[in-house]
This record gives sequence, structure tokens and C-alpha cells, in this order.
Amino acid sequence: MPDRTENVVIIGSGCAGYTAAIYTARAMLEPLVVTGAMPGGLLTTTSIVENYPGFPDGIDGTDLMIRMQQQAERFGARVQFGSMLEAADLTQRPFKLTIDGKDVYAQTLVIASGAGHRHLGLESEVKLDKKGVTYCATCDGALPMFRDKPLVVVGGGDSACEEATYLTRFGSKVYLVHRRDELRASKIMAERALSNEKLEPVWDTVVTEILDVNQDKVTGVRVKNVKTNEESVIDCAGVFIAIGHVPNTQIFNGQIDLDDGGYVLRPEGVQTNVEGVFVAGDCSDHVYRQAVTAAGMGCAAAIEAERFLSTL
Ligand code: NAP
Repeated sequence: MPDRTENVVIIGSGCAGYTAAIYTARAMLEPLVVTGAMPGGLLTTTSIVENYPGFPDGIDGTDLMIRMQQQAERFGARVQFGSMLEAADLTQRPFKLTIDGKDVYAQTLVIASGAGHRHLGLESEVKLDKKGVTYCATCDGALPMFRDKPLVVVGGGDSACEEATYLTRFGSKVYLVHRRDELRASKIMAERALSNEKLEPVWDTVVTEILDVNQDKVTGVRVKNVKTNEESVIDCAGVFIAIGHVPNTQIFNGQIDLDDGGYVLRPEGVQTNVEGVFVAGDCSDHVYRQAVTAAGMGCAAAIEAERFLSTL
């Protein structure tokens, strides 16, 4: 038997993970939080969060996550910064996890591993990554290379609208390239973007190549109108890709049931198909994907973990 078995190990440190940590810590379960490579999760890449209840003036995404972390730690959560789950064996009990090369045993597991940015899947996108191609306007928008230059944002959701609106502060012009002629974004975000004079929507259009690999920097995008098949080039210094997310669940493939998109399935509430393994947040939710819904799921996962532990 291992020397120590954790009551609860939480994989992920976004809204879902830290809320699960706050609740399980307050229940005196001393949860271990494995933050992953991006402590605080995707919200740390956003600017002002305007729709998290309790902050009428909005709150900076990173500030919100630091507050959640501190709240969890105050009650005894152990946050292991930058730590990574490398393997999980959920067929044995306690569960055997490999974290930063060490074996860790856990009675319950909360998977709150979030989601990463979806890529266009172009060779030129990979080659020009960080050379003008980025997935985070908040992180990179203010870089000198993008100042007073035309910029392209790809996507039609809230992220694309938010990023495009934000980038109008820096770029000379922002093209919002969307594959349909209607935005998926919420009305308020769409209106805010489309009413901005520096933003120009490019409808029914997909990016087929990012230029110029030979110059080792972004100089433009080759685009195709999907209705007319007409091809053209938009000159730009940066391409901001905001086309959604892919759940960070690859490590659980074969261990728990996932749907075709890789999202963790929940046969009931926040329970997975493996008893004692609970899930919360974006890795299991492709419908709402909000900070507050992730936090709610984190709370539910913590309560279920506590209940499960009391039956052992
Ligand atoms: P999303 O809602 O899934 O939108 C993704 C967009 O990218 C869609 O317009 C989609 O086109 C397009 N797309 C997907 N794959 C593509 C591809 N291969 N090539 C070209 N375009 C592609 O993702 P999101 O904008 O990241 O938003 C995710 C969630 O976070 C949503 O629930 C959103 O409300 C929320 N969010 C909220 C805020 C806020 O309230 N402040 C900010 C950001 C995000 P189609 O429309 O044709 O499918």
C-alpha cells in the first residue's frame, strides 16, 4: 500500500478546479490541486470578465483566478504549481496517478482539465506560430509587431468578437474572417464588434494559407470565399485564431468514457462512468462553457466526492 493516499486529487486549476478545491478544502479533505501548465486556466488569457456574478465593474481574469486560488489555499488546499498529470490508472483503487514522475494515490479524482485552443490545421499555421500567428489577443495583442498594422481574427463566436474588438486598440484595421454570413457570438458581443469602425467582417470565408513561411513572419492570409470559391489575399501582420476549443482529456482516453469530441461523458450529474471520478468545467461541457457554470460544476463535483468518501 502507498504511504499516503490522497482524499481528493483535482486535475486543473480553472474556475472548476479551484471551486472544487474550495469546497473539498472546507470539508477538511486537504485536496491536492494539479494545476497543469497554465495555472488559473483559460480565464487568465482573457481581459475583463464582465459576467461573473459579484463584480459589477468586471474583474481581470487573472485576478479572479488568483482570488480563487487564495480562497482554496486559505482552507487547506495544496496547490502544486505547474505540475502535470502524466498517467492515470483508474482501474485500481485507490486510483494510481503519475504526477511529475511520481506515483500519487487517490480515493477520488476530480477532472477539471479544461480545454485548449482549436487550431485551423494548416501547415503554415504551425510554422508561423508565435511569428504572427497567435491564439490569444489578450496575451499578444499589444506586441509592437502588431501596432498600427492590419490584423486578421478568424472565427465567429464570442471569443473572436471579443478578440477582434480588443485588437482595434492596437491594429490599424481588424478583419474578422468567418466561414458563414452570421456570427455565432451573443448579440451584445456581435453588436459591439460590428459597430466598431476599425473592424471589417469578411463573411463566408476560410483561411487556406498563412503567408509568408519563406519570410518567417506573417505578412497576410490567403482566403477563399466558400460560396464563390474566389481566392484572395488579405495583407496583415498578425493572425489571431479564435475558433473554439478542444477538451484536455487525451490522458483519460481508454480510462473513462469520452464522447466523439473528447468531452468527458457524465452519465449522471457530474459523475463519470468510473465510481469516484467526477468531472467539472470545459472538459465536459461544450454547451455553456462559462466561468460561472464551470464553478458550479466544480462545486457539485466536490460535494459528490465528499459523499463518495463518506461511503468508504
Ligand atoms: P465557439 O462559440 O465554439 O465559436 C467558434 C467559432 O469558430 C464559430 O463561429 C465557428 O464557426 C468557428 N470555427 C470553428 N471551427 C472552425 C474552423 N475549423 N475554421 C473556421 N472557423 C471555425 O467558441 P468561442 O467563441 O471560443 O466561445 C466558447 C464559449 O465561451 C461560448 O460559450 C462563449 O459564449 C464563451 N465566451 C464568452 C465570452 C464572454 O462572454 N465574455 C468571451 C469568450 C467566450 P460556426 O459558427 O460556423 O460554427
